[in-house]
Amino acid sequence: MYHSVADYDEDPHQITVTPDRLEKQFAWMRARGLRGVGAAELMEAQENGSHSGLVGLTFDDGYVDFIDVAIPILQHFGFTASVYVVADLIGGENVWDHPGPVKPLMTADQIATVVACGMEVGSHSCTHQHLPSLSDSDLTDEIERSREQIVALTGAPVQGFVYPYGDVGPREAQAVHRSGYDYACAIWPSASAGRYALPRTFIGDRDSSLRLAVKRRRHSWRRYVTDAPVTAAR
Ligand SMILES: [Zn+2]
Repeated sequence: MYHSVADYDEDPHQITVTPDRLEKQFAWMRARGLRGVGAAELMEAQENGSHSGLVGLTFDDGYVDFIDVAIPILQHFGFTASVYVVADLIGGENVWDHPGPVKPLMTADQIATVVACGMEVGSHSCTHQHLPSLSDSDLTDEIERSREQIVALTGAPVQGFVYPYGDVGPREAQAVHRSGYDYACAIWPSASAGRYALPRTFIGDRDSSLRLAVKRRRHSWRRYVTDAPVTAAR
């Protein structure tokens, strides 16, 4: 689970990795015979048993640095990834992180270019709110309207949804399923939500080779954790 890729002065929400660090992390993967792919591709490979050596790479929020910085690095390594955009804030800023460093979000044209580059684009809701605190109708709006907007923008199917802050309970997972998404990413796994609360591991700028090795091992254990408490993430 990545967010932003940029050089930075301050990063209070720990959502940024530097380009140099990302290159080192991808080189670490490649040296171990691992290849980064988008989440939808990983899910499909898992279904037909061809997922060995694949690592799902996800980038939340849809920062402009995904197209400017992350994609060239991904392409250098022959990797692909998924990026999840906030539908009502396309071309805007990460207003939900206020106060904090302002980061521009991709425009409609940039998102279309991302799809043309072979990357997966999914939904990260309409407005990046804590979904469990919303009414049923607002929840449905965040999930369904964001998908419709992104499909209209890219002309490509939108298979994946990412819960803002990783906040998901049974109601949210059912709503995403009902809305026709193929999968959704959380942080902690949930046995009851299955493919609608896929576990992810936070990867940050401090994640050196040693830490990646620990996180890789820990991630493989997470599938056995059932219905653990919701964890905050941006
Ligand atoms: Zn987010």
